[in-house]
Amino acid sequence: MARGHLCISIDLELAWGVWDCLTGEDLDLCSRLERPIVGRLLELFSTYEVPVTWAFVGALMDAQASKERAGPEACWFAEDLIDDIRATKLQEVGSHSFSHQYFPSLTPDEARVEIERVREVHDRHGLACDVFVFPRNLVAHLDVLAHAGIKLFRGMDRTLPNRLREFNKTAGRAAHLLETAMPHTPPTVSVEREHPQILELRGSMGLLRREGLRRLATPRMVEANMRRGLAAASTRDQVFHLWFHPFDLYREPDVQFLLLEKLLRRACEMREEGTLGITPMGGFLVDESRTDTPNAAERVG
Ligand SMILES: [Zn+2]
Repeated sequence: MARGHLCISIDLELAWGVWDCLTGEDLDLCSRLERPIVGRLLELFSTYEVPVTWAFVGALMDAQASKERAGPEACWFAEDLIDDIRATKLQEVGSHSFSHQYFPSLTPDEARVEIERVREVHDRHGLACDVFVFPRNLVAHLDVLAHAGIKLFRGMDRTLPNRLREFNKTAGRAAHLLETAMPHTPPTVSVEREHPQILELRGSMGLLRREGLRRLATPRMVEANMRRGLAAASTRDQVFHLWFHPFDLYREPDVQFLLLEKLLRRACEMREEGTLGITPMGGFLVDESRTDTPNAAERVG
């Protein structure tokens, strides 16, 4: 029987994710909502025994870096959250850079410094550092990453609107909104070799926050699309890779959590039937040629 995978990756960044366009509202929401949302997510993943990759910004574990930023320290420093993630069974830790710089705009030396600081934080805390998520999924400097021991990164979603965006940003964005509001099967992906030493696992879809035009995608539609993603992954023997940030659940959290829970419930049913595995990003490193024996549990912590 065909057997695909669900992979979930979460970008944990708090205010570092908007350091270049920070508003007072960002700080207010982050200081009030980030921790309860992360706590609720961990409870959900624990209940359903679902392994998830948490790619975090290294500066969240660097007290000095956080002191240099404006606003409440709780928005820049979050060692407590990473401890909570490590204490929750099956959760995997990866990197989302040190300070959320956009890699295509960095020189090789700047990229090297950014990655060295990541390694320093991960090594100091005894954390694995072979799975990486580029800030805004903007891929660059793979040689630098390879040199630092990164083995797998998440690439841009393999969607038609994203391909369109490469030629025309506005048209790509419009197509993306249109697509999310319509019934469709999200793309499924598999591990690809983009560099002699680094593998890429693209995203299938992001869980969009419920605000503005994004609300055109009704919960019922999103649920149906995610179920199609699971079914397609199983049929095609590929991966349905869902990703998001805790802040994507700040608005209408009950709606978002219900959506996630329905997805997990369905994925767990399929796992029990033997038609789907649930695997964090690092699970795809076990055997590059095939993903049947992901080994998440041994990588956790
Ligand atoms: Zn980010």
